[in-house]
Amino acid sequence: MRIDLHTHSNVSDGTDTPTELVEAAQLAGLDVVALTDHDTFEGIAEATAAGGRLGVEVIVGIELSATYRKHPVHLLGYGCDPSSPELAAELAKIRASRRDRIGLTCQRLNQAGVSITLADVATAAGSASSIGRPHVADALIKLGHVADRKEAFRRYLSPGAPGYVPRYATPLEHGIKLLAEAGGATVLAHPWGRGGEQVLTPEVLASLKDAHGLDGIEVWHQDHDDEARRQLGRVAATVGLIPTGASDYHGTGKVNHPLGVNLTPPKSLERLREKISSRSG
Ligand code: AMP
Ligand code: ZN
Ligand code: FE
Ligand code: FE
Repeated sequence: MRIDLHTHSNVSDGTDTPTELVEAAQLAGLDVVALTDHDTFEGIAEATAAGGRLGVEVIVGIELSATYRKHPVHLLGYGCDPSSPELAAELAKIRASRRDRIGLTCQRLNQAGVSITLADVATAAGSASSIGRPHVADALIKLGHVADRKEAFRRYLSPGAPGYVPRYATPLEHGIKLLAEAGGATVLAHPWGRGGEQVLTPEVLASLKDAHGLDGIEVWHQDHDDEARRQLGRVAATVGLIPTGASDYHGTGKVNHPLGVNLTPPKSLERLREKISSRSG
């Protein structure tokens, strides 16, 4: 069983349509793929339909933008009901904040001498329901200001860089509750990526499980080196968190994370399914 539980389509900041993503999953020999776009379920119906045609199981997923002690963290939800009103309202609030910051992002970039307009970003975002900095990055690439998304983040879009504008994200404890109340299982995405190990210490991970009901942590992820994977695997086993692995695929040629580069053990998927069925009543 080849299981990849973290991928993005062009409904957020990936580049494949949901259908293309499931086609790519089939080509990569995956049996199960979760579509986990940032703060939107909009690609799920299309991906599920493609999965039915192609014989790939598509798991309903989301990557919720959250904050823990003011640090941005990403929370994966699996098997949630997209029509849950509380969850839908929170996601709409995040997406509105994502859209609202783009104008200011362009202004700040202009002040830094980089010419870019709202229309440039809108073109790069296409029909995406969830707009993010990667779309600004794509516009910067098209305008010839940078070579790739990585350079765009480093020079212009990361915290401290001239085009960085903060936005709303859900407090993590509340996000865990919202996703669970919508019938889902929760997994903290790449907890030790981008300096996360300073904030999400083993003690914090244990308390997120014991006090707030977090179900799992991503262990096998490209942001984690071998040592981080080893330590996170041990934390998961000690604390009883479900360990998962995934590619965090964003599309062909974008970020170098091919589908299936990391996989989730079948036993972990089984444990996630048990959580989901215990919550759907
Ligand atoms: P946003 O959703 O607007 O906060 O942008 C964050 C997203 O940008 C992340 O989820 C990644 O998909 C992507 N990202 C973050 N840092 C980088 C980077 N250094 N290079 C390329 N993509 C990045
Ligand atoms: Zn992304
Ligand atoms: Fe993420
Ligand atoms: Fe992601």
